[in-house]
Amino acid sequence: MATRLVMCPHCGNTISIEEKPVDKIYLICPKCGKKGVVRFKHKETKDSIILVRGLTKYYNNHRAVSDVSFSVKRGEIFGFLGPNGAGKTTTIKALLGLIHINEGEIEINGFNIRRKEKEAKRYVGYLPERVAFYGNLTALQNLYFYADMRGSNREECKALLEEFGLGEHANKKVSGFSKGMLQRLGMARAILGNPSVLILDEPTGGLDPRGVVLIRNKIKELNKKGATLFVSSHVLSEVQAICDRVGIINRGVLVAEDSVSKLSNRLNLKPKMVVDLDKSSDTIVDAVRMVEGVDKVHVYGRRIEVICDAPSKVKVVLAVVNAGGNILNITTEEPSLEEVFIRYTGG
Ligand code: ADP
Repeated sequence: MATRLVMCPHCGNTISIEEKPVDKIYLICPKCGKKGVVRFKHKETKDSIILVRGLTKYYNNHRAVSDVSFSVKRGEIFGFLGPNGAGKTTTIKALLGLIHINEGEIEINGFNIRRKEKEAKRYVGYLPERVAFYGNLTALQNLYFYADMRGSNREECKALLEEFGLGEHANKKVSGFSKGMLQRLGMARAILGNPSVLILDEPTGGLDPRGVVLIRNKIKELNKKGATLFVSSHVLSEVQAICDRVGIINRGVLVAEDSVSKLSNRLNLKPKMVVDLDKSSDTIVDAVRMVEGVDKVHVYGRRIEVICDAPSKVKVVLAVVNAGGNILNITTEEPSLEEVFIRYTGG
C-alpha cells in the first residue's frame, strides 16, 4: 500500500501514513501525542457531472452521512455500494434535493442542488428504491402523467412500455402489478425524456433473472448513448460487471472511490490463475512455488490454483512446462469486488 508523509499541525513532526481513499483520517502524533485530523483533498475533474463535497446529514442526533465527498465523471457508470444502513439512500436523497442536509455542497451539471434545484434536476432521471405509482391508473396513464409533469413527449410512453416488456400490460391498472413489473415501470419512468444523468437506487431489486438481464443491458445501452449512471446496488458481481468506478460507503463514511482494479491493487489483492494439467507432480508444484511473485499454491488433483502477481503469470506457465507439465487449460480470475468490499467495510 502506498505511503505518504503528513506534517503534525501541533509540533511539525513528519508522520508516514498509509494512503487510503478516504476524505480524512484521525491521527495521534507519535512525537507530541496530540490528536489531529488529516484531510485529503478530493480529486475533482472538469468532466465531473455529479459533485459532492463534505456532505453531512443528521437524523435527530444520529449522523447518517459524515463529510462525504466524491465525483461522478460525465459518461461513466458509477456504482455506489455499502452495507444496509451505510447511508446510500440518504446520499441519493441528498443528491436529488429531497432532504435537508446539514453540511456540504452538491452540484449536478454545474448547478447547485440547493440554490438551483430546478436546473440541477432538469436532466436527471431517478429510480427510487421503492417505486410507487397510482394504482387505479393504468401503466400507460401513469407514464402519461409523468411525461406531462416533465414536459416530455407522450409519444415515447408506449415505446418505453414495450422496451421494458410491459407492452401487453399497458392498459392494465398498476394495482395488479407484481414487484418486478413495478420495477420495470419505474425504469421506464426514470428514462422518460431521455435524461443525461440517471440515478438508480437498487435497479434490479425484486426482479427475476430475465428482468435483471433486461435492466443490466438497458443500463449499458443508455451509457453507450451517452448517459451518466449512478447506480446503488448490493449485487456486487453485477456492479463489477457494469461499473467503471465504485464508491464504497460504510457507517456514513466514504471509505473508497476508484475503479475495482485500482482498489484491488491498493489492497494488494492478486489474481488467481487456474492451471489444468493432464498429470500433476510434486516437481511441477515445487517449480511453481519457487516462482517469484507467487503467493499461494493449492493443488486439487490435476488442477493447480496459483495466487500471484499479474506479471508472474507467464513465469508460472514456463515453470510448469519446464518441469515437464502438459497444460490442458488456463484461466485467470481477477480479484472480486466482494473481496474489495469486505476489506473496506471490515467484513
Ligand atoms: P442505506 O441506504 O445504506 O441502507 P440509509 O441512508 O437508509 O442507509 O440510512 C443511513 C442511516 O440513517 C441508518 O442508520 C438509518 O437508520 C438512518 N436513517 C435513515 N433514514 C432515517 C430517517 N428518516 N430518520 C431517522 N434515521 C434515519
